[in-house]
Formats: sequence, structure tokens, C-alpha cells
Amino acid sequence: MNFNVVLLPGDGVGPEIIDAAVAVLNAVERKFGHNFHMRALPVGGSAIDSTGVPLPKDTLEACKAANAVLLGAVGGPKWESVSAHLRPEKGLLALRSGMGLFANLRPVSLYSELVNASPLKSDIAKKGVDIMIVRELIGGIYFGERGFRDGVMGQEAYDTEVYSINEIERIAKIAFEIASSRNKRVTSVDKANVLDTSKLWRATVERIAKSYPDVKLEHMLVDNCAMQLVKDPSQFDVLLTSNLFGDILSDEAAAITGSIGMLPSSSLGAGNIGLYEPIHGSAPDIAGKDEANPIGTILAAAMMLGTSLKLVDEAVAVENAVKRTLAKGLRTKDIAGGKKHVSCSRMAEEIALAILN
Ligand code: NAD
Repeated sequence: MNFNVVLLPGDGVGPEIIDAAVAVLNAVERKFGHNFHMRALPVGGSAIDSTGVPLPKDTLEACKAANAVLLGAVGGPKWESVSAHLRPEKGLLALRSGMGLFANLRPVSLYSELVNASPLKSDIAKKGVDIMIVRELIGGIYFGERGFRDGVMGQEAYDTEVYSINEIERIAKIAFEIASSRNKRVTSVDKANVLDTSKLWRATVERIAKSYPDVKLEHMLVDNCAMQLVKDPSQFDVLLTSNLFGDILSDEAAAITGSIGMLPSSSLGAGNIGLYEPIHGSAPDIAGKDEANPIGTILAAAMMLGTSLKLVDEAVAVENAVKRTLAKGLRTKDIAGGKKHVSCSRMAEEIALAILN
């Protein structure tokens, strides 16, 4: 079958990890007889350099017209001094918002081969980690009114968290649907002892839960959740969170799997088009060294195959190839624990070979 996929390599390690995912997608094309028309377009800092803005109109239009979008990462020290509305990260926020992608899904699992790379105590790690983080993506404090102003104590800055019932309902429904096909537990994370947005969040989630009687709902304050994630992550099935809390908790969850380089994510809206990306940033400290772990991006490509392109066997083939390559002992530097490691491109070649063989 033919599919149009927009590639957004972005900045820092972005181009390296996207090249790695393309090598794997090429293997999928060969093995399964598909044709992925992959077109790379600018976003983030590289788009600022080439077009003056972090999200060129042509990039957004092409993304909306594609079957799916695969993104590397954006940002880096080079663009830290540009004015706030032109920052690379603004391009990504505008892309998610422009495509209406309100649900960010971040599966977190600890591969048995990587138990030693996890900072968790081995008795906790051995209990396993298999969590789906469902993060609201285009509302909350990242999109609320913000600014600087003169206050009673001099200059001050403010950011505003706003959530509507509608925004909470639609993300809660996604979490309950996913939990229905998993272990039937939703933990909704908020700060309802302090924040009004969280009080509305909790009441709305409780109302949505009534339509899913098979799914058990519990509420957890975000500070407790941060602690429980390192004390006993095996207790969680689906974690439902706001934009800000989800951003922070998913980096914490990533660390317990061994490396932030391991985790993929998908961002979905009402339609079929999704945006797929690793959860990490542009890792400027290792950019250009062929050292980044490409597995998060390769697993994001697998999510893209299974979700937007409906190629479920192909998605499973990529996931199995990642597992087999790890089982062979291949490790990038971040998960090698100081031992022998392979480059980003070699890891991708090995995963591509595992798909073909
Ligand atoms: P980061 O995720 O880029 O890096 C944090 C640490 O993790 C670094 O030590 C880095 O080397 C390491 N790391 C990240 N990805 C890795 C990989 N694939 N393999 C091995 N190690 C990896 O976070 P940061 O340093 O806080 O941010 C750097 C830039 O990325 C900033 O400009 C930030 O705004 C941007 N950022 C972008 C996104 C995105 O594009 N979705 C997300 C987060 C941060």
C-alpha cells in the first residue's frame, strides 16, 4: 500500500534519529511490500534558520494532508536568545495545536534486558513496568495567558492554567477506552487539594468513569504519583494527566525504563492523522556524534504504523525487532552502563536487519 508520511527531523539529534527510523521504515517497505512516500520538512530551529519562523505554513499544511507525521525533536542553545514567540518549541506547540492533537499517549515499559539499566532497585524493577500515560496536550498552562507585569513587589511573571469541561471529557474518554483494552484501571492525576482546574478535572473524570463500569478509577495527587512511580510503578495501568503534570511525570517514567531515549509517543486528535515522536528533546550535548539512542523514535514509527496507517503486523514486527536486537546485547551508550556500545546508526541497521530476517 502507498502512504504519505511527513518527516520533521528538527534540531540537535533530530536528523540522526529520523534517519534511523527511516532505515527501519525502509526495511518494513521491503519486507511487507509497502511504499512510504517520505518527505522531510523544516520545523523548530532549523525552520527559523531557513524560513524565519519555527512552523512554516507549508510544513503545517503538508502535515495536515499526510497520513502521518514523524518528528525528531526541536530546540537547542542556538535559538535560546530569539524572542519568545519565535522559539523552536513554539513551532511544536503550534503544530500540535494546528493539527488538533489533544491526546498524547506515552507507553512506558521496562524491557527485561534493560532491568540493570534502570535506576530502580532490582526487586522493584523485576515486578515490571507497563504503563500508558495519557496526557492532555493542547490545553492547560502551556497554552494559557502569560506575561510579565508590574506587581506590588516589582516586576512579576504569570502563567495561567485553564481547562474546560469539554477538554477534560475528551481526554478522559481516551484514557478509559485505552484502559478498557488493557488492565482496566485508570489513575487520574491532579492537584485537587489546591487547584480549581484540578477540582473540575476530578469531577469531570468521575462523571466520564460512570460510562465505563468495567474500569476502576482512582485519583492520585501529582506529588504522591511522582513518589509512587519510583516506589512501585507496577501498580499503574493507565495514568491520565494534564499537559504540565504529564510532561513531568513522563520524563520520570522514562528514566525508570533505563533511558529517556527508549520511549515513543503518539499525539492524536479527532481524525486519523497522528504525530509520532520520541519523548526526549534535541539532546544538544550529544548532537552530531551518532551517539543518540534511536529506539524511542523507532518505536514511535511502530506506533505510527499500527495507529495511523493501520499496519498492525508491521508495527509488531518493528517492536519484535527492537526486542531481538536488545536481546542480542546491542546497546547505545545511554543504556550500556559504561560497557561496550554501538552508534545510533548501527543500532538502526541491526533493527532493520532483524525485520528483514
Ligand atoms: P533532552 O531530552 O534533549 O536531553 C536530556 C538528557 O537526555 C541529555 O543528557 C541528553 O543527552 C539525553 N538524551 C535525550 N535523548 C537521548 C537519546 N535519544 N539518546 C541518548 N540520550 C538522550 O532535554 P533538554 O536537554 O532539557 O532539552 C534540550 C532541548 O530540547 C531544549 O531546547 C528543549 O526545549 C528541547 N526539547 C524538545 C522537545 C521536543 O522536541 N519534543 C522535548 C523536550 C525538550
